[in-house]
Amino acid sequence: MARYIFVTGGVVSSLGKGLSSASLAYLLKSQGYKVRLRKMDPYLNVDPGTMSPFQHGEVFVTDDGAETDLDLGHYERFSNISAKKTDNITTGKIYSDIIRKERKGKYLGKTVQVIPHVTDRIKEFIKGDITNEDFVICEIGGTVGDIESLPFVEAIRQFSNDVGKNRSLFIHLTLVPFLKSSDEIKTKPTQHSVKDLRSLGIQPDIVICRSQKSIPKDQRKKISLFCNVSIDNVIETVDVRTIYEAPISFYKEKLNKQVLKYFNIKPKKSANLIPWKKITNTVLNSKKEVNIAIIGKYVNLKDAYKSLDEALIHGGISNKVKVNLLRLESDNLKSKDVKKLLKNVTGILIPGGFGKRGTEGKIAAINYARVNKIPFFGICFGMQMAIIEFARNKLNIKKAGSTEFDKKCFPVIGLMNEWNKDGKIIKGTNKELGGTMRLGLYKAKLRHNSLVRKIYKSNNINERHRHRYEVNRHLQSNFEDKGMIFSGMSPNNDLPEIIELKNHPWFIGVQFHPEFKSRPLNPHPLFSSFIKAAKSK
Ligand code: GLN
Repeated sequence: MARYIFVTGGVVSSLGKGLSSASLAYLLKSQGYKVRLRKMDPYLNVDPGTMSPFQHGEVFVTDDGAETDLDLGHYERFSNISAKKTDNITTGKIYSDIIRKERKGKYLGKTVQVIPHVTDRIKEFIKGDITNEDFVICEIGGTVGDIESLPFVEAIRQFSNDVGKNRSLFIHLTLVPFLKSSDEIKTKPTQHSVKDLRSLGIQPDIVICRSQKSIPKDQRKKISLFCNVSIDNVIETVDVRTIYEAPISFYKEKLNKQVLKYFNIKPKKSANLIPWKKITNTVLNSKKEVNIAIIGKYVNLKDAYKSLDEALIHGGISNKVKVNLLRLESDNLKSKDVKKLLKNVTGILIPGGFGKRGTEGKIAAINYARVNKIPFFGICFGMQMAIIEFARNKLNIKKAGSTEFDKKCFPVIGLMNEWNKDGKIIKGTNKELGGTMRLGLYKAKLRHNSLVRKIYKSNNINERHRHRYEVNRHLQSNFEDKGMIFSGMSPNNDLPEIIELKNHPWFIGVQFHPEFKSRPLNPHPLFSSFIKAAKSK
């Protein structure tokens, strides 16, 4: 029977609840247990799919096509367990489910209320779609005390009461600040945060204290006393040099040991920390460096391209190089400045994106990479921009563009049924955007003798998608005659999935998002190969 671990946060947000949950999942899994990770988000959007990356960072996509919180990316990368649609829920989703049910008269005339209807729906989420998991780790977004998170806190309180203490555990993550002026570590914010949690009926079993400095014994005793938690369950997490050190640091602090002790069970085998030690060593000590430019709209926002940044670092790990990322805002990129700005980089990457802003800057950078034979990687929108650049400059289609942002263009990129057999646009179709995205895993077959075929070492791949527009396949032979081959196609040959240049050391565009499947312990082959090419440039 599954045991449930609830992770809440206090004092401030961004303390690393996601990373703590993911590290704990890795440790428990490597000790022989089956683990599942889940996230409850207290905002009113039904999913983060429609939110701007400026608001909420990257939208992570699962195999089964859910657009989720980026913490699910951390979970997957650390635990190597693929998340599912059923692993992320928001207040918006809960309310929309309830209101739909209410409209159908499913509540039999009853008054629909936060308790029990909202809390029941949350409890359904927590225990839904579980098979033989030993542990379900559920993280609650936001900070205890926020109005938004109250129904979730209430639901986990009830849940623990329903299943019993021997099957539920509360972990609370708080901040223990260090005051430079008095050279002191302060436990008061933690005391208050736990007091808040207790006033909502939850006594934490483990308190994880995020701190800049190691917490002295006396201070730990104080936290133990005031928070009513045994001293062994006051776990510190001091800032790590790289996130890959987190599982090692939590192991040293005995987080997994205390969790197993709480449930009165023994590890089935000892935790394997060797891969994390190796990775940490490579990340911290690699002497050689590569400079990669990422050119996009949201580059100034930390977390907007979280999985991508990570996947590039993973590519560095497999090549034993340090990857320096030069983030360039595509809006301000003029073709006359491209050369100067990109002269020190040996790899250029254009990530996914939506809308017109910044497209010309991206196209200018792609032109520079193509002509100067700099390794280039175009992801989703980046691939689409590479198609436009090539069409304009090699196929001489000056009005080549995407119907996403230019309705009068020659559609080298457009909606699937927007063009007729000649590759020309059919006017007046597809006004609706909703429900037209390709989301989640789709298969592609790779062309014999292509670069991607060599990189993947396989004829068939299955990658995660999140896009609406497609490359106009009717122009395939025009592109191929000029040296840009469509080396990956959907199984029915309808949709171009990968493009590459024949006479270029490394120029690849992919319609999917390989970054979502890259893991530090198993870097994605495209990223390893891209960094290898950048290293040898
Ligand atoms: N905006 C493009 C589309 O919808 C690309 C999306 C993306 O890069 N994820 O097809």
